[in-house]
Amino acid sequence: MRYISTRGQTPPLGFSDAVATGLAPDGGLFLPESLPQFTAAELAGFAPLGYADLCYEFMRRFATDIPEAELQAIIRASYTRFSRPEIAPLVRLADNLFVLELFHGPTLAFKDFALQVLGNLYERQCRVRGETINVLGATSGDTGAAAIHGLLGKPGTAIFIAYPDGRVSPLQERQMACTGAANVFALAVDGTFDDAQSALKELFGDQAFRTRHRLSAVNSINLARVLAQCVYYLWAWLRLPAQVRNDAEFVVPTGNFGNVLAGWLLQQMGVPLRGFRVATNQNDILHRLFTTGDYRVGAVTPSFAPSMDIQVASNFERFLYYSVGRDPAKVRAIMETFNTTGGYRFEHFNRDTFTASRCTDAEIPVIIKSVHDQYGYITDPHTACGFKDLAPGRPSVVLATASPAKFPDTIRAAIGIEPTDPSLEALKSRPLVKHKIAATPAAIRAFIEAHAV
Ligand SMILES: *Cc1c(COP(=O)(O)O)cnc(C)c1O
Repeated sequence: MRYISTRGQTPPLGFSDAVATGLAPDGGLFLPESLPQFTAAELAGFAPLGYADLCYEFMRRFATDIPEAELQAIIRASYTRFSRPEIAPLVRLADNLFVLELFHGPTLAFKDFALQVLGNLYERQCRVRGETINVLGATSGDTGAAAIHGLLGKPGTAIFIAYPDGRVSPLQERQMACTGAANVFALAVDGTFDDAQSALKELFGDQAFRTRHRLSAVNSINLARVLAQCVYYLWAWLRLPAQVRNDAEFVVPTGNFGNVLAGWLLQQMGVPLRGFRVATNQNDILHRLFTTGDYRVGAVTPSFAPSMDIQVASNFERFLYYSVGRDPAKVRAIMETFNTTGGYRFEHFNRDTFTASRCTDAEIPVIIKSVHDQYGYITDPHTACGFKDLAPGRPSVVLATASPAKFPDTIRAAIGIEPTDPSLEALKSRPLVKHKIAATPAAIRAFIEAHAV
């Protein structure tokens, strides 16, 4: 299987190269040249598989340049650090209401599903090529923690995660800065997330520096992340009762559109998922898109669901590619208009498969309380956005993207209970090692020069 860029000006690459490259050189995102089609017989054959074996069966259609036994070992290793044997438990709250819990990984958010795999793929790449790799990223919380735990202690790798000092939650900071691993560097930047992000962008723009240190970016557009995330939709679909299976809407708390894109791609591969709800918080660019056809940048207002506080949805370009009939020239034209004017209006936007909802900060605690009152179930603030506007008659599967224990203050304010998790409790007694640093490319460059492997 080869991988092409949405913008059509990068030669196709194999899986491992596309994963290592991240963003395509023409500015586009990688997609499989064609999508495999799963037959009903194949899907039936998947039913008895455990999570890691299902993931392997799926990924082997894509990671065709990795020997199968090796790929299987990588995938199995990637799901050994989850605290539940089901990996992704499907919980039934009512006849027509299910929650897919995606927060039992090492950092208690759904990003572990992809970043555990990505960390092991990076490790293999170092081994096979006899090279080291330095992974660099900026985070407002969950991504950085999950990326760090994907690479923790892996030989040949170092990871540098820049985050705004004092602006990520104390628990998220501890997940990044209390690992005790020698290859992990938590960079507490004196500035905002955007300052950190733009400093890193400048470093990545310096080809000589980038090549010298074999820098790799960790962000939500990596191909391996989207593919690994397809698997839990398949897992959930296989577990839904037959009478609701092909009728259920998957409700996805959404920021960069990576998670919901994965479900949609799986549907394009012949798995009969009925549809998806794009559930945003008050930063609602995608809600506006799916209700009006207008895709337009807005200001970001910090919310109780910070991992969904985005201005543009970076993975949307992959969906766009298919929506314009796989025409890279059209993608380039639309992205050009979007980047220069801050918006694009779609005239004939296919909205059959997607619905959308928007949840304000005032509503989040109210929903957390009503879900707790009604079902005795505690949702984190991101997942709570998925419980907005649930259609009573319609079967729904809400994706639970983070553990409530990551957001104890919001939960306590809503229901008077403070959820805990043993892994987070253990962090509180570990020494915190963070490197305070100016939000400038020069300061971050000097730090990397001194610590790169
Ligand atoms: C990253 C994240 C999201 C948003 O996921 P996207 O793939 O960016 O849409 C939602 N909830 C939580 C808890 C997250 O960490």
